[in-house]
Amino acid sequence: EAVIRAEGLAKTYAEGTLHTPVFDGLDLAVNAGETVAILGASGAGKSTLLHLLGGLDTPTAGEVFVAGQKMSALSDAARGRLRNRALGFVYQFHHLLPEFTALENVMLPVLLNGTDVADAAARARALLEAVGLGHRLEHKPGELSGGERQRAAVARALVNKPACVLGDEPTGNLDEKTAARVFEMMLELNRAERTSLVLVTHDRSLARRLDRVLELHDGKLQEVAAPNV
Ligand code: ADP
Ligand code: ADP
Repeated sequence: EAVIRAEGLAKTYAEGTLHTPVFDGLDLAVNAGETVAILGASGAGKSTLLHLLGGLDTPTAGEVFVAGQKMSALSDAARGRLRNRALGFVYQFHHLLPEFTALENVMLPVLLNGTDVADAAARARALLEAVGLGHRLEHKPGELSGGERQRAAVARALVNKPACVLGDEPTGNLDEKTAARVFEMMLELNRAERTSLVLVTHDRSLARRLDRVLELHDGKLQEVAAPNV
């Protein structure tokens, strides 16, 4: 059973004079527990694809199904709830709220689910400990290092036990050693919780570690055979 499925996905941005489609008729299925890398040159449409898969943007044509639910058939509120429950997002920039502590930032998605504060705090604390931030619970993003902030962002993405994490260059802003550490942590959580991962990356050595490597080129998504990654 696919956790995310895209069928005949097309996207054309209305702005600009050319109206060239970023892609037109793209299919993708990500199974439970599967890890997928998406490679492609700058401007190929990787972020666009990820936004469509995550329901952050609407396709020009085609459908996205998340946990079996057709995104276009849901109200904005229902789509938001499904996104918060079934998906986690990690970006190149952490997007933590600066006024809140690490613990509060990670608690927020759980509270939005209607979980009570004590349970949300317990779950958030456990995840922050799992990513090695047990000693940084009360720190605000400005008091954390780049790697610590990114690990907090990963904890936030995982706190609702999503079926799938969508990452847009999640380690792109980190030095090599920290990037490797954050990446290993995501793989561990994939193994422990069977969370699917869809990661946009420029880093072929990281991509190679995932189950499937896809490359977006000229609007087409193609499987890259293992020795060629
Ligand atoms: P990538 O993530 O692979 O670098 P993007 O998905 O960001 O690629 O962009 C794909 C194409 O769509 C590019 O040509 C980009 O300029 C264009 N594009 C992206 N976002 C917008 C937008 N909001 N409005 C118009 N064009 C956009
Ligand atoms: P960019 O593609 O320019 O690097 P980001 O990846 O940071 O930008 O964010 C992409 C888009 O997703 C932005 O329009 C942002 O407002 C939106 N966004 C980021 N995080 C969330 C979220 N948790 N829920 C909904 N929308 C989000």
